[in-house]
Order: sequence, then C-alpha cells, then structure tokens
Amino acid sequence: MSNRPDRNSPPRQAYSGSRIERAAVRRSDPATLVTLAENNRAGFYVIGGDAVVLKKRGEDLDPLFLPGEMRAFGTARETVFLGLLDEAPRFGAGFDPAAVEPLKARDDFKLIDLRSIAVQGAVAAEHLPPLAEAKAVLGWHARHRFCPNCGTATNVVQAGWRRDCPSCHAEHFPRTDPVVIMLAIAGERCVLGRSPRFPQTMWSCLAGFAEPGESIEEAVRREVREEVGLACARVAYFASQPWPFPSSLMIGCFAKAASRDVKPDENEIAELRWLERSVARELIAGKRRDGIQVPPPIAIAHHLIKAWALGEY
Ligand SMILES: [Zn+2]
Repeated sequence: MSNRPDRNSPPRQAYSGSRIERAAVRRSDPATLVTLAENNRAGFYVIGGDAVVLKKRGEDLDPLFLPGEMRAFGTARETVFLGLLDEAPRFGAGFDPAAVEPLKARDDFKLIDLRSIAVQGAVAAEHLPPLAEAKAVLGWHARHRFCPNCGTATNVVQAGWRRDCPSCHAEHFPRTDPVVIMLAIAGERCVLGRSPRFPQTMWSCLAGFAEPGESIEEAVRREVREEVGLACARVAYFASQPWPFPSSLMIGCFAKAASRDVKPDENEIAELRWLERSVARELIAGKRRDGIQVPPPIAIAHHLIKAWALGEY
C-alpha cells in the first residue's frame, strides 16, 4: 500500500503540499522557540504587507533569510513558527510595509507579491506552501491586533498561532475563509464566467464565499443559482487549495446542472458562456481559440476544467 494517502487524488495544487512538519507541540514553549530561532539552520520568510522579500543571488532568488540577515531589517512586528523542515526551523517574519520599502531601491533584494512569485516560478516550488502559510497568518495578525470582543490590544502567544486579550481573556485564532469554486456541467458542456475584474479573454469557474450555516454543497448550488441562474443537482468534491489572498481555502467541486436555463447576474459576472468539452481539451493543451483563455495551473480552476476536459469527471 502506498504511504501517500492522496496518491490517486488530483494533482497537488499550488501553495499546498508543504514538506514542513508544523510541530505544533513546540508552539507553547517560548524558551524552545528562542533556541530554534537562533539555530544556525533556522530560516525566515520575510513579508511586509503584500510584498515578499527575496534575496538576489546572481540569477536566482532566495526567499530564506538567516536570523542575522533578518535582524538587519529591524524588529519584526510579528513572527510565526511555521515548523521544522528536516529539523531545520522555519519561521515567517512580518514587517510593517514601510520597514521593507527601502529595500526596493537595493540591487541585492527583490520585493514581489506571492501571486506573481507563483505565476513566474520565481522561487523553487517547495517554498510556495510555507510562503502561503506565513502570508496568511501574518496577514491575519496585521488585521487583528485588537480584541473584537472588547477592543483591547491583544498579545501574540503560541508562537504566532493565537492572540490573547489581557482584558476579557478571549483567545483569538487565525481564520481561514472557505470559498467554493465549481465547474457547473451539463452533458458535454460546462459553464464559465468572466468576472468584471478579469481581462476580456479570461474565463473561469464560478466561485464565492460559503456563508455561515451552509454546507459546501448548499454553497455551491446557491452560488451557481445566484451568479448564472442555473439549478444544480449533484455536487461532487474535487480538491482544495490554500489561497492566501488574504486567507481563503478554495474548495473545488463539480456541479451537475439540473437544467440548461441560464440567467447571469450582471453584478457578479460580466458574461457567461457554455464551453464544449472538446474546446476545453484544446484550451488546456495550450491551443488558442477564439480569444478564450482559462486560468493558469497555479489556480485550482485550471485543474477543475482540465479534469473534466480529460474525462476524469
Ligand atoms: Zn477582549
């Protein structure tokens, strides 16, 4: 039997599949964390707002900083212990955007957003999951420095994995927001939408936040009904993807249309189109057709369309 329980699952999604052992039991001991942070194999991912700081090493870009290298930028606003990679400690260090801004003028650093890093393949793929983890947690800190219960400034505890309120004693945890993203299918055709935010030629799956009190299946059916007026019957789970922009979990599904009647909501999508499976196959293979593009492989939408195009659903 394979030691990989997900062996027959869909391809691993960008930002997932971290090799780092999170070692959550270490989070509660501040003394251990100080030792780990000073370990000569410790590495820090440095983030300031939406910018990831990379070291330029000739043609290569390196996202990991030694403890001493990081201290040259000043004091991190928050630090999160990401875990151990073959016993080497890994951390995320969050700086105020203004603190890393001067690095833009330097030849030995590059500041770049995480989406562009993935699209351009700017760093080795193994760095994408910990960068996503660091960005999501550090972004949560930046937006949750005060207790939502009583308004008091909160303290970082548990190695960056919790904020405690000294006044009302509430404990606050980093949040992940579930987003359903689905390919609605009717026979040999699927529905794609074009968001008003997309380029004219970019078509993708429908998507939206799951709401409180909804199952994933209900959220899928509601979003498809709201966005394109289409009723769906069976919903099947495909795969999920961390999407740290700022803190989503994309839950990819297929939805079988119960009718062929569509009525797009102009506020949600600019246009919708039915796409034949044969055309989807060509687009996934990289052929250009009628100025239609589908999202790149870093997005789970690409893999939903691909799996259906190849007859895997
Ligand atoms: Zn409080």
